[in-house]
Amino acid sequence: MDIIREISIHAKENPSRIAFHFRSGSITYGELWEKSGRLAAWISKQSLAKGQPIPVYGHKNIYMWTAFIACVRAGHAYVPMDTNMPAERIRDIACTVNSPLIFATEPLNILDTTEVIDLLRIKDILQNEPALVNDTLRNKKNDTHYIIFTSGSTGKPKGVMITTGSLENYLDWSVTLINRKAGVFLNQAPFSFDLSVMDTYTGLATGSTIWSVDHDLLRDMKMLINYMKEGKINYFVSTPSFADLCLSSDLFCESTLEELNTFLFCGETLTVPTARKLRERFPEARIINTYGPTETTVCVTSTEITDKMLSEGQNLPVGKAKPGTYIYAVAENEERLPAGVEGELIIAGNTTAAGYYKNDTQTLKRFFTNSERLKSYRTGDFGYVNEDGMVYYKCRMDNQIKFHGYRIELGDIENNLQALNGISNAAVFPELKDGAIHSLAAYIVQNNDDTSYARRKFIRDELRKKLPSYMVPKKINFMSEFPMTLNGKIDRKRLKETVNAAVC
Ligand code: AMP
Repeated sequence: MDIIREISIHAKENPSRIAFHFRSGSITYGELWEKSGRLAAWISKQSLAKGQPIPVYGHKNIYMWTAFIACVRAGHAYVPMDTNMPAERIRDIACTVNSPLIFATEPLNILDTTEVIDLLRIKDILQNEPALVNDTLRNKKNDTHYIIFTSGSTGKPKGVMITTGSLENYLDWSVTLINRKAGVFLNQAPFSFDLSVMDTYTGLATGSTIWSVDHDLLRDMKMLINYMKEGKINYFVSTPSFADLCLSSDLFCESTLEELNTFLFCGETLTVPTARKLRERFPEARIINTYGPTETTVCVTSTEITDKMLSEGQNLPVGKAKPGTYIYAVAENEERLPAGVEGELIIAGNTTAAGYYKNDTQTLKRFFTNSERLKSYRTGDFGYVNEDGMVYYKCRMDNQIKFHGYRIELGDIENNLQALNGISNAAVFPELKDGAIHSLAAYIVQNNDDTSYARRKFIRDELRKKLPSYMVPKKINFMSEFPMTLNGKIDRKRLKETVNAAVC
């Protein structure tokens, strides 16, 4: 599916249909096409290197998507950056992608050589730049379409490069999850999180309306549910954590959200209790579980959760592979395991990312070509595939966690802690409550004896400059030393036992 062509067709056939609705305003298909064309024309005059990725900063507003589509129409990848990222992380990413310019749809102060094209400038361009005449500049199948940065264990985020071809292969399948029927999609995830690709691009591909939730709405459940009601949501796309949040309100039920007919989940384990509650509140709605990492374009499996699965299982399946994708488990020695035997899940096929941006070490570690010559990715997920191809996810094999749906490498937090003055060693553990991650706790060895409240506050404040707030540990604990392994690494197992931290 040629997504840019699809958008142009919807713009021609249904110009006044709303493509994106935000609380701050809406943009129709006609406007999205016209405005992204003007901005693309401007980008094409900036003498940027061919394919130069362009960061686009902001939260939920019409200019974000105008800029994303403009970048692609001008032949550039875009790098979505949400306001939940602190300025230092944005500067790091802008440095990595080495972009001479960044579109900032909301106020942004980064002091370096990157030119910030702020909202006033963007509005001025949209008003005065003539419409794009040359629509042949746009990205080709092997070009990078977007780069999404995810938490990296070294303390620096990793940029996953998704090509236009991978995105289109993904969309060929994702539209079938909703039987290609246009409707209203809920957009919950920030645009810097690849789950948002499911609702936004599947929505755009089908000429649907994308009804977008901003972070302020999450503070008021009644307002949030009324907002969804106003949008007449058909397709509820979210992490299970977000559904749990909604389920905490009695208003979240079929009689309030009458048009809601499909739940599409990805990003973390959908538990039986959550699925059962949804079944009770929305007896007619389909509940679809999907699975996949950002590195293989959003998700690569799906299954509709049946009553039989709910009555049988403790562990719901994540689904069967989409066409063009092959999933199998391997042992530690990389040998393929027979059906039903647990090992590391490998995902191979036509939506596997091109690799990590300017990060050959991690790319070589995680990506490879398998014996069928398919681009493959080592997920770090432990699970198995049944004889009938159904995939089951059990747990992670490393220190990556999901917290409120966000992917976090604990090493990312630990490395940022160790970079602070006076800290010689750091380990971070998730703390569990009722089987779910409730908060993060940091354990720190210092080369001074300041364990005051002010010191804890200082550490948290410093981290906040570098990491999104959901990655800043709630608890800071000081220790005199850590148990170490014989080869000089922190012995996480013994440390965990010592501090009695619960790790998933
Ligand atoms: P992300 O790149 O943020 O989408 O995170 C990918 C990781 O989330 C996967 O490698 C899994 O560990 C986890 N994940 C994604 N989907 C599911 C699912 N349906 N059930 C359990 N874990 C999931």
